[in-house]
Amino acid sequence: AKAAGRNTLRFFDPDMQAAVTARALMEEDLRQGLQNNEFFLCYQPQVDVYGRMTGAEALLRWQHPRRGLVPPAEFIPLAEETGLILPIGHWVLSTACTQLLAWASSPEMAHLTLAVNVSARQFRHADFVEQVLAVLDHTGANPLKLKLELTESLLLDDVEDIIAKMTALKAHGVGFSLDDFGTGYSSLSYLKRLPLDQLKIDQSFVRDVLTDPDDAAIARTIVALAQSLRLDVIAEGVETGEQRDFLERNGCLAYQGYLFSRPLPLEAFERFQRGAEWE
Ligand code: C2E
Ligand code: CA
Ligand code: CA
Ligand code: CA
Repeated sequence: AKAAGRNTLRFFDPDMQAAVTARALMEEDLRQGLQNNEFFLCYQPQVDVYGRMTGAEALLRWQHPRRGLVPPAEFIPLAEETGLILPIGHWVLSTACTQLLAWASSPEMAHLTLAVNVSARQFRHADFVEQVLAVLDHTGANPLKLKLELTESLLLDDVEDIIAKMTALKAHGVGFSLDDFGTGYSSLSYLKRLPLDQLKIDQSFVRDVLTDPDDAAIARTIVALAQSLRLDVIAEGVETGEQRDFLERNGCLAYQGYLFSRPLPLEAFERFQRGAEWE
């Protein structure tokens, strides 16, 4: 009776009630947002050792009519829980592929690859491979320019199934990067078996790479691991020239971060690239 009483009390906890209501409102807002075209993509440059842009990462943005710009950290988790990540993820993929096709006919943009974040829930869906192939087919985008960023949380799933899906997409030319590498659950034996193209050093290791010997050791180890597995490696969250130089000295030759550019809306991104070409 005491426990029940406590539960009853908890149920009427005004803070919790408020949280539940806020969540339900946000879920409805997400549905509306998708219907009303409130989402858009920003593009963050990825550069090589010479500072030349080789590609970009597409990052989702939500322009809410009242809340303003809502960062992905505030809505992606809910979208994953509710399953709304499936239609949202499909929208991201088809918008990104439409953009790739548009760039294909522009001399300054045609060489760029585009990385798209795929949530574990999206990848896990039985039709994921067919969906990606259908989007490529409908948009006419070059699969060789599309890179899918997967996170380590995916590796909690059936590895055979993951390998089968990745292999099917790779057969069409789609590339794969393992995002946030080093923060999750990767087992090195899995890593060897996955048909990956790239490891992405998480920004949490890059941030203090100059001052924290542990982060420096982890960053170096990831680069060495990528080299021995013959994978590309890119560092995200590069904010200073010193961080970039440390990474270069340790064999990481591709970078993404505020040092080069913040994620930019389409027009600004294209201007950024065209401007660089004119220098
Ligand atoms: P992520 O995939 O690790 O993306 C990198 C995040 O770091 C982005 O945050 C980016 O704006 C930020 N960033 C880039 N350079 C720097 C830097 O130099 N310093 C710092 N401090 N941050 C930097 P953003 O755009 O807020 O996205 C957050 C996360 O939301 C992403 O992390 C990704 O997990 C998720 N996300 C974004 N777009 C999508 C999407 O289309 N689908 C899915 N499933 N998840 C997405
Ligand atoms: Ca990413
Ligand atoms: Ca990351
Ligand atoms: Ca992340």
